Amino acid sequence: MDYTNQLETMLKQQIMARGITHPRVLDAMYQTPRHLFVPDDLKSEAYLDQPLSLPENQATISQPYIVAYMTEALQCQSLDRVLEIGTGSGYQAAILANICKEVYTLERYYTLSLNAQRTILSIGNHNVFFRVDDSLEGWKTKSPFDRIIVTAAAYTAPQTLIDQLKDGGTMLIPLGDSRIQTLTRIRKKGDKIQTENLIPCVFVPLIHHSNHSLKSGSSESIAVE
Ligand code: SAH
Repeated sequence: MDYTNQLETMLKQQIMARGITHPRVLDAMYQTPRHLFVPDDLKSEAYLDQPLSLPENQATISQPYIVAYMTEALQCQSLDRVLEIGTGSGYQAAILANICKEVYTLERYYTLSLNAQRTILSIGNHNVFFRVDDSLEGWKTKSPFDRIIVTAAAYTAPQTLIDQLKDGGTMLIPLGDSRIQTLTRIRKKGDKIQTENLIPCVFVPLIHHSNHSLKSGSSESIAVE
């Protein structure tokens, strides 16, 4: 099955029509075949305007638009090293890998991490590094990062992650309760933290024992417009 038409239609109707214009973001999405990242029984829905469930509890591949939006909002440069929390399918990591130097991605489920690793290698990206972990301790030995992207929702941004952001770095995280969150951009400038509310969104919860994260709720990663 050739998915090229579906990919092009997705880009035009869901991404460009909603105002995503950055050429590197559009190109990265064009280079990343979304159907390879979704479970076999959902391949026919891979390019639709919606998130899709992954084969683990509370894990989804986000709606294409929200992936594009977050990629643009992260404002990556080509030499950037990025930390992602929530590998899921690996789709967001693969797109970032086309734009920046290295992506370090953490996932709580071994099965998802392994599957994402296989998919990403199969499309020829060798600059993504995987680890199974749900401690919210980040990836200290590889820190500091130019960018951090959290693709699961929390009440507050975990301090351990902010600590692993470079001075001048940017972090994106959906903040709110289990029903709805605000995609929040955090910039670190010396001792100061600037936060900026971007768009409403609904993500699956960032699972952790502490009160940083949402403890329950079964939501989907879909942008709310
Ligand atoms: N970025 C993914 C979508 C992620 S869905 C993609 O492109 O497909 C959110 C993911 O975060 C889920 O896979 C979930 O298992 C994972 N997750 C939740 N809490 C986590 C934690 N504390 N550490 C690492 N991964 C976590």
